[in-house]
Amino acid sequence: MASPSSHKKTPVHDLPTPEPDSPSLTRSRQPYRFSTLCATVDSPDADHKDQHGSSSVPIYQSATFKGVGNRYDYTRSGNPTRTHLEHHIAKISSAAHAFAVSSGMAALDVITRILKPGSEVIAGDDLYGGTNRLLTYLRKHMGVTVHHVDTTKAESVIPYLNPGKTAMVLLESPTNPLLKIVDIAGISALVKEKCEDAIVVVDNTMMSPYLQRPLEHGADIVYDSATKYLSGHHDLMAGIITCNRDDLAKDMAFIINSVGNALSPFDSFLLLRGTKTLAIRMDRQQSTAMLVAQMLSKLGFVTHYPGLPNHPGKEIHDRISDGYGAVLSFETGDKELSERIVAATRLWGISVSFGCVNSLISMPCVMSHASIDPAVRAARGLPEDLIRLCVGIEDPADLLDDLRHALIEAGAITFAANDFVRIPNPISRAVEKLALGEARTAPPRETREWFVSAPGKVILFGEHAVVHGVTAVAASVDLRCYGLTSPRYDNKISVHFVDINDYKHEWDIDELPWDAAVPIPKGEEHPDSLDMRVVEAIKARALPPESQMPPKTHAAAVAFLYLYMMMTFSGHRPAFHFICRSTLPIGAGLGSSASFSVCIATALLILHRRIELPTVPPPTRPPTVPGDPGHVHLSHRGRRAIPPEIAEEANKWAFVAEKVLHGNPSGVDNSVAVFGGALAYVRPGFGKRSGMDQIQGFRSLRFLLVDSKVPRDTKALVAGVARKKIAEPEFVGQLLDAIQVISNEARRALADPELPREMLLSGLAALIDENHAHLVSLGVSHPALESIRSITSASPYRLSTKLTGAGGGGCAVTLIPDDFADEALQSLISALEAQGYRPYVTAVGGSGLGILSPYDPIAVDENDDTPPLSPPMTPQPNAEAEPLRPSIRRRFEAVNVSELSKWASDRGKWLYV
Ligand code: PLP
Repeated sequence: MASPSSHKKTPVHDLPTPEPDSPSLTRSRQPYRFSTLCATVDSPDADHKDQHGSSSVPIYQSATFKGVGNRYDYTRSGNPTRTHLEHHIAKISSAAHAFAVSSGMAALDVITRILKPGSEVIAGDDLYGGTNRLLTYLRKHMGVTVHHVDTTKAESVIPYLNPGKTAMVLLESPTNPLLKIVDIAGISALVKEKCEDAIVVVDNTMMSPYLQRPLEHGADIVYDSATKYLSGHHDLMAGIITCNRDDLAKDMAFIINSVGNALSPFDSFLLLRGTKTLAIRMDRQQSTAMLVAQMLSKLGFVTHYPGLPNHPGKEIHDRISDGYGAVLSFETGDKELSERIVAATRLWGISVSFGCVNSLISMPCVMSHASIDPAVRAARGLPEDLIRLCVGIEDPADLLDDLRHALIEAGAITFAANDFVRIPNPISRAVEKLALGEARTAPPRETREWFVSAPGKVILFGEHAVVHGVTAVAASVDLRCYGLTSPRYDNKISVHFVDINDYKHEWDIDELPWDAAVPIPKGEEHPDSLDMRVVEAIKARALPPESQMPPKTHAAAVAFLYLYMMMTFSGHRPAFHFICRSTLPIGAGLGSSASFSVCIATALLILHRRIELPTVPPPTRPPTVPGDPGHVHLSHRGRRAIPPEIAEEANKWAFVAEKVLHGNPSGVDNSVAVFGGALAYVRPGFGKRSGMDQIQGFRSLRFLLVDSKVPRDTKALVAGVARKKIAEPEFVGQLLDAIQVISNEARRALADPELPREMLLSGLAALIDENHAHLVSLGVSHPALESIRSITSASPYRLSTKLTGAGGGGCAVTLIPDDFADEALQSLISALEAQGYRPYVTAVGGSGLGILSPYDPIAVDENDDTPPLSPPMTPQPNAEAEPLRPSIRRRFEAVNVSELSKWASDRGKWLYV
């Protein structure tokens, strides 16, 4: 997502770009950016040149003009001040035509006069109330049919597209006040494909032309209530209409002239003045809106703002817009609490509307949306406790401070343990109590074992540079973390981290610090920030001090318990034993903590019954076929996939575990561990589109991963690069640019299904060498890494190697071409081992999360001599009534790590993402 201040990949106007004014300037000038376009008002043509050279367009406050056959005769038909405004609006909206009328609703009135009796309109079901009112009028009195559909799902318009009848599709995105996102581009394409005569109309008021220009995405007509952001000061009412089609423009000009609702000269002057500062106001407004949204979300309120990472439809919004706007809303869980919060603010004015320089607060259900029947509000999912915030240009610190004070005064938050924390509201407490009282209805005890696994990750390109806004390309490695759950019957949970110091611990479930926890009900999401009271309570009351535990086990145990407690619902507290093993080197920068996080998140989601895997029919062939590639998944074909909603849920909770382990993770590692394959990642905050994109069509590659066994200090290495950037900005800037080119090139090649395999491999090899050279120039290599590189690049291997991750030690990655001989690989491995390095042959870009379904009767192979047992050492009380289930627990604990992958694969048919 572009930062508010950056702009324009494409010029948004058709003014000629000025030629270089000096022969010494070798490159032509850049097209003007948006804020320049806003601030510069040009004469529409030579006719409009002001005879006195006035720097502000004068107000032609005149109803009539003298003469016959002149350009202007009567202000209803045309007025020079309005012409300037319309020309200016067309320029900033990338539009051929613009009209200014007396209000946003007047704009829609003009547009809907294109409809005829019998016309059909498809419109959103969550539109601005005034729009609904006008559509209802047209339906009742003008013979127009209106279908309201959920336009946040593009496909929902399809059944209503009726060629010859559908005349208009009316969209609004984001919606107000729930900020739901509509795929304007997707729906426009559908409409054009199925009903070429229908026009797509977009109400763009929430975004303004600065942040979204729907004409560029296939819309035919766009209108704004210019009363909002375009004017910016709540001192006038106006509407603007833009379009590129001459026929539609002609019809609308005729209607405006006929009905006489064009904007008056004085309001045209005011609106033109407001528009000059549109970009600068919105930059400030939306950057503060982001801070407010982050604060509310961190406090644990359900917060609706497209700039938040989990906002539904964010990916679509990022594609069609250049910013997130300055309207957001949040839920408190209690209508009266919301009323108290709204009443307690001082700086935030209680008012309807938005887009003004001063900040406003409102409760839609009792204010702007009060006219909608409560049942309709409920059906549309509009919460009665919803608070809407429209952020202005005041100092962000004052706005945050005022809101925090209001939240404290209303009893929504308090100050504890050096931070503001949310006070669980009485309603959710009561619901929780009720749920506890309903423990009888809790889901039945799980008596089966569940086996889960997730891959680690390597950064293929862009490490370090990613910190400075460059795209990084990360991919899964087929070295994995595995987790097994076995039921217990003694109301205890226990963990065994076999590969972290063989650590074991068990807890009496009832003795966990439940008083500190407000678990997240099933179906709801964990807030952006951790509940630090739970983390602190676990540390203080469920575990010995960190110094008394083996390294790394403390954080892993806290993460496990935190997820266990936060996932509990309906009083269901499953008792089980969790064993974790890993073929990934731990702490070598290969994402071992993220794959651990994915394993605990998935196992806990299953045991808490928060996710339900589809029942799998018994297999039709034996599980282990000689020559089966086992755990190296070069293809997903034939594998039964884990449903995407389960993968998403596992990813969200794994991200929570990552937060417990790391404080402020990027989310890349857990996403790779869940989804496998490869993804491109850009950090937010660099004025360009940030976030993660799955690289589709990635074909798995063979890599040799070599652990140098030299420990790294990631923070110091990152700080070193930052210092270098300050000392040598040009040099480092060039390196970063060069790495961005490499990442782009790699991403393009990896996703190109047409690119022959040999070309892909040779291209990647060259990029690997190039990227490594730049990392050396950034000063993050290490003699051990250089020695690995010299071994792998020497004859006869001649392979390309680069450091991966922070450098300064850790791991290197070497691309192995498909035709690289096995003997050569063995000899290379020996050469590396001889120098004390630890090589791993692995597939990069393979499967993500895996779950071995216990529905599958072959989960335990017939040759497994493990006696059936009820783990661990807790007899199953009703063993007679319920036959003992076979267990793979003992074998899992004992199998040699070098055989673990094959052994796990042979247990049965895994489901993968
Ligand atoms: N569209 C949206 C999204 C609005 O919020 C509003 C007014 O609040 C309108 C249209 C109508 O605009 P006006 O009040 O300028 O007629």
